[in-house]
Amino acid sequence: MYTAPQHGVTSITFDDGIIDVYSNAFPIFNKYQYQANVAIIPSRCYTGLGGTYLTWEQTKILQSAGWDIAQHGYAHNNYSELTIPQIRADVSKSTIAMLQNGIYNSGEFVLPEGGFIKTYEFFTTLRKYFTAIRGTAGEINAIPVNPNYGRFIATDMNLRSATIATAKSRALKAMKYGGWIDLYLHTVGASGANVTPAQLDDFLAYLYDFGIPVKSWSQITGAKQNKNFYPAGYIAPGETRTITGALTAGAANSIALAWQNPEPCDILIKKVVFSITTEGGTELSVINSGIADDATGTNLGTEFFNGLNANAIAINDSTIVADGGTQTKWVKCLNSSSATGGWIVAKILAQAASDLVGTYYIEYIGT
Ligand SMILES: [Zn+2]
Repeated sequence: MYTAPQHGVTSITFDDGIIDVYSNAFPIFNKYQYQANVAIIPSRCYTGLGGTYLTWEQTKILQSAGWDIAQHGYAHNNYSELTIPQIRADVSKSTIAMLQNGIYNSGEFVLPEGGFIKTYEFFTTLRKYFTAIRGTAGEINAIPVNPNYGRFIATDMNLRSATIATAKSRALKAMKYGGWIDLYLHTVGASGANVTPAQLDDFLAYLYDFGIPVKSWSQITGAKQNKNFYPAGYIAPGETRTITGALTAGAANSIALAWQNPEPCDILIKKVVFSITTEGGTELSVINSGIADDATGTNLGTEFFNGLNANAIAINDSTIVADGGTQTKWVKCLNSSSATGGWIVAKILAQAASDLVGTYYIEYIGT
């Protein structure tokens, strides 16, 4: 049963990870011992100083001070315009870049470029990776979060288009109704920025004086923030996974197996095994299997089996030449958003294998 919350909360998020956050906003937040959130674009986090965006080092310092580092798309693409496999690949790319630079994934996402939750599938995909999602237009966060603060973030508070007085009144409103408001902005600086340092200081002083909590997203949602956190669906480098299924009988030139890499990253195929338990039924019927561009075996590239007898009961291991295999080393299979080389396909050739019964087994690791 829903219990009315006792207190509201305010969070402040800096979209895009502009350097102002570190040089101008961070000292002011430290003054009040408040923590904020910064939604970074990994492709723009430079390793050197003096850029427009935060460096990885500066991002790490913010993180160490208790700030949340949210994902905002690897290259700030509008997720509403991406396919589901492209979203998975983009999340993975951001996750890997962040982890490689010592940034934990706290499970938050800010939709870039005015993106919005457009379909149920879109929503359920993001939900696998993130605890909280925020848009830029009064977006509802439908992800169940800390029940003390209800289920939503009231947003739509870009300080560019509102006065500090409005921001104050919205924070008070969140307190009054026990809600959670996320105020987002991009820049803090002199003329041309969303707010000046003096305005931000005045705003935080107001919240401090009224005892309004200002928290990072993970402090509110209770999401884990540690180095070992991987979004669900993410395959870690070196992690082994396996898949098995039935081979499909058919005429000559039909497809006995079409499997697409389901992971958001490239994988290495350790081996492929075909166990034929019932002969295909026609002499000289063979199977070719390899890495392909699509489910029909277009541009069948690196092969696991070449001319494998489809009319013989046997266990065929792609890494053992005596078993009909052609690969004694691991083979790369591209990620699920790739248009090329993301499939393992097996094709029945020369003669029909209409009676074929058997299973395939694929073993692979994340990269
Ligand atoms: Zn942005």
